[in-house]
Amino acid sequence: MSETIRAPGRGKEVTSLSNPIIKDIRLLEKKRHRDETGTFLAEGMKLVIDAIENGWTIRTLIYAKAGRGQENVEKLATRCLAQGADVLIVSEKVLGAIARRDNPQMVMGVFEQRWTSPAAIRPAGNDVWVALDRVRAPGNLGTIIRTADAVGAKGVILVGQTTDPFATETVRATMGSIFAVPLTRMSEADFIAFAGKWPGTVAGTHLKGAVDYRKPNYREKPVLLFMGNEQAGLTDELAAACTVLIKIPQAGRADSLNPAIATGVSLFEIRRHALTFEGEVS
Ligand code: SAM
Repeated sequence: MSETIRAPGRGKEVTSLSNPIIKDIRLLEKKRHRDETGTFLAEGMKLVIDAIENGWTIRTLIYAKAGRGQENVEKLATRCLAQGADVLIVSEKVLGAIARRDNPQMVMGVFEQRWTSPAAIRPAGNDVWVALDRVRAPGNLGTIIRTADAVGAKGVILVGQTTDPFATETVRATMGSIFAVPLTRMSEADFIAFAGKWPGTVAGTHLKGAVDYRKPNYREKPVLLFMGNEQAGLTDELAAACTVLIKIPQAGRADSLNPAIATGVSLFEIRRHALTFEGEVS
């Protein structure tokens, strides 16, 4: 993907927590600030490089003083400056304060958020998309995005009021998949209309599902896998918008699975019908 051409950025050394740029970056912990600036924080050298290679726009690269003189870090800094990003070389104390934890990653990046418009979704072949009804827990959302990436799903749709995919905790849980999986958001009413036009199976996962999740034919048409809210499951209106309600049979005392686990189990079954995985073992 081509890189955005901007004026070269500036490099700067920062050691004080009261520096306004650092204060601004630390505010990215708050959803309101992420929404207002349309940016978010990603941690780790590999993540930052993956994001840039995938065409994401970096606003600020931050790295520890200890990274000075390290060829890979300096190369990355030069690349970011050329793309118009600012580069901050910071003390361990500043890095820890931005990450809000001990042993922070040596490299971090502030990136522009990216959303895919619902109108850009064009399901074809045996594509699979995942939709999530009011997902609340950042760890669940991050794990689901990572799992969707692992099976080659085309994207994740957030329905209703959900946790923010660009929260640092969620980004961490995606392990970089946030940069590979298109994200869309829509209201419950818009989703019902969207599901009504879906050209294949809309498989809602439901504890009262009448169909074993291994039974439907997921092979020929696009599949939209729909997961319910952690506490309440799918609303009745959303369940009615599905073409089939599937259930993962359980034994033991647990009355349900964690939704991220249920997503993984369902997605790998759906892909088993349709795909040969690259890393498949016989
Ligand atoms: N009390 C909620 C209910 O009655 O639906 C429990 C929700 S469960 C913790 C969260 C979501 O994970 C469900 O809405 C469904 O999408 C999925 N899920 C969990 N266990 C499942 C199972 N055994 N079969 C199908 N979906 C399951």
